[in-house]
Amino acid sequence: MRIDILTLFPDMFTGPFNESIIKRAREQGIVEIVLHNIRNYSDDKHRRVDDYPFGGGAGMVMQIVPVAKLIEQLKKERSYDDIIYLSPDGERFNQQIANRLSLSNNLILLCGHYKGVDQRIRDHYITREISIGDYVLTGGELAAAVIADAVVRVIPGVISDETSALSDSFQDNLLAPPVYTRPAEYNGWRVPDVLLSGHQKKIDEWREQQAMERTKRLRPDLLESGE
Ligand code: SAM
Repeated sequence: MRIDILTLFPDMFTGPFNESIIKRAREQGIVEIVLHNIRNYSDDKHRRVDDYPFGGGAGMVMQIVPVAKLIEQLKKERSYDDIIYLSPDGERFNQQIANRLSLSNNLILLCGHYKGVDQRIRDHYITREISIGDYVLTGGELAAAVIADAVVRVIPGVISDETSALSDSFQDNLLAPPVYTRPAEYNGWRVPDVLLSGHQKKIDEWREQQAMERTKRLRPDLLESGE
């Protein structure tokens, strides 16, 4: 998979994409993440990319020209499954969307800034708009990093124990059961006996029952929505 990220602040991705599982997936060639600085596509001699909103009002707007030039160039080079704009008014991101996006070959993630991008970009290039929650961030970079991370970790082969991603919360609309590791007792707090029993069927049943109990208690909406 290839993910092209269009941003005014490419350095913001240095940390998230150069550590741990995402770093390894990039090194193994499972995912290629390409950062593009939108400013490089500005026609302005000061490399300006924002301007005042038509009609007045507070804040600046990301101009159409640099973003359109960049998207046009990328579309000439390959076809994209989706061109995604990160936006607080987009569809709310969740595990099902991450799973589906992980089947893509090529994705573009466009990070907004200021008051957002000129609406004509959204009308004519964007195929999907995604929000990571009901709050407003300074820019789309953190949202793009969240989405890239959630998508890449469910690509087969990225997590070495392949069943691991499938047993995480939100797969099957359930929260994950509790996990424990050695020592079996600390400070008088014991790990549940069933996990030490070696009886795999009983362990699986206990985990299922714990996942269901947690979901009912903490996120009953997941059981109702069941996609
Ligand atoms: N004026 C916009 C509004 O009220 O919807 C908010 C603009 S915000 C300050 C700047 C950029 O941050 C947005 O264009 C978007 O790319 C990104 N952003 C902010 N909050 C986000 C969220 N919850 N999910 C995804 N992207 C977000």
